[in-house]
Amino acid sequence: MDTILFLAHTEADGTLAKNALEALGTALDLSQSLGATLVAGLWGAQVQPAANSLANCGAQKFLAVEGEAFAQARYATDALACEALLRAAAATFVIAAETSRNARVMAGVAHRLGGVVDTHVSSVAVASGSLQATRWFYRQRIEGTFVRTGRPRILLLDPGNHAPWTGEVGTATLELVDVSVPESLTRTVVKGFVTPPADQQTIRPDAKLLFVAGAGWTKKQKDGQPHVAEAESIILDFLGKSKASLGSSKSLVDLSGENQAALRFLSHLNQVGQTGASPRHPKGLATCCHGEEPHTVGWRFIAERRAINLDPGCGWARGKADVLYVADAFEVMRKVNLLLGSK
Ligand SMILES: Cc1cc2nc3c(=O)[nH]c(=O)nc-3n(C[C@H](O)[C@H](O)[C@H](O)COP(=O)(O)OP(=O)(O)OC[C@H]3O[C@@H](n4cnc5c(N)ncnc54)[C@H](O)[C@@H]3O)c2cc1C
Repeated sequence: MDTILFLAHTEADGTLAKNALEALGTALDLSQSLGATLVAGLWGAQVQPAANSLANCGAQKFLAVEGEAFAQARYATDALACEALLRAAAATFVIAAETSRNARVMAGVAHRLGGVVDTHVSSVAVASGSLQATRWFYRQRIEGTFVRTGRPRILLLDPGNHAPWTGEVGTATLELVDVSVPESLTRTVVKGFVTPPADQQTIRPDAKLLFVAGAGWTKKQKDGQPHVAEAESIILDFLGKSKASLGSSKSLVDLSGENQAALRFLSHLNQVGQTGASPRHPKGLATCCHGEEPHTVGWRFIAERRAINLDPGCGWARGKADVLYVADAFEVMRKVNLLLGSK
């Protein structure tokens, strides 16, 4: 009989994050489909609160690696904890969330046990008695389904693909797995996090609106001059006020590589389209943008789409937007910023 290990690291307060509970939901489905034993394996500085929150999830036992050495994300100690939990559970399948902490160690852990690992899994199912995992390739254009014979098979699940497990809190009996940590493994210490201020983060996957900037923002305008500095300030002002996510056409991000006047806060990470991202937002607004790729592929997952373009004949804006404003984006966005400012 297969043994499914639901594997998770605890958060600083000893609880589990939402994506770990989503992975647990998948592990439970799978244990039912395979008629397998479900074991929970938790590691971190303190584990009891997390185990208690899962007390009624149906796991047959709760294995834990606990201690200060496992508080912080660190390859050496995380891999040690996971390896010990996998061995103690004698797991054939391991289900964990695709957190950066898990993703960093699971290939190494699989190697230590002679197993295999699948990352960015979007769903798992059982067909003809075997476990099939699906994941997307090439920026969500191709969905692959595959089976593997290697065991243990570790599957890291991307967030948002399964409802998080919920249930009554109880009291779980922990089976502590003893792991001795040589001092040499704790030499690496996380000293803190350095992240850009929220206003400098222009890619916001949870934003309600995707604002797409095209190369027109840097082109000569009706006075015969480009107004790149003003374009920058209009766009940043809008992003600051609306908290929209910023997408860009390829032409616009490529400009910086050609030493032309460009918007300084853009990088290729902002690019949407065939060779860029296809983000998911409820609404999209394309500005100064003519390209086929940003309008077709780039916002194919955007529910409601509008565009502002000087050119009434812009085929892609006309063909793919629900509403096309034939107008000067500088003027429109200045006015929008004013209205947002007065709110
Ligand atoms: C294989 C391949 C892959 C590609 N992949 C991508 C991709 O992933 N993403 C992508 O974006 N492109 C991609 N491209 C390039 C794409 O085909 C277009 O060349 C590009 O998207 C054009 O960028 P743009 O619309 O910003 O610039 P332009 O074509 O220069 O359009 C600028 C627009 O701004 C308008 N404008 C100017 N001033 C104003 C103003 N004041 N107010 C309103 N409108 C104004 C103009 O009317 C014009 O329509 C790819 C091309 C190839 C061949």
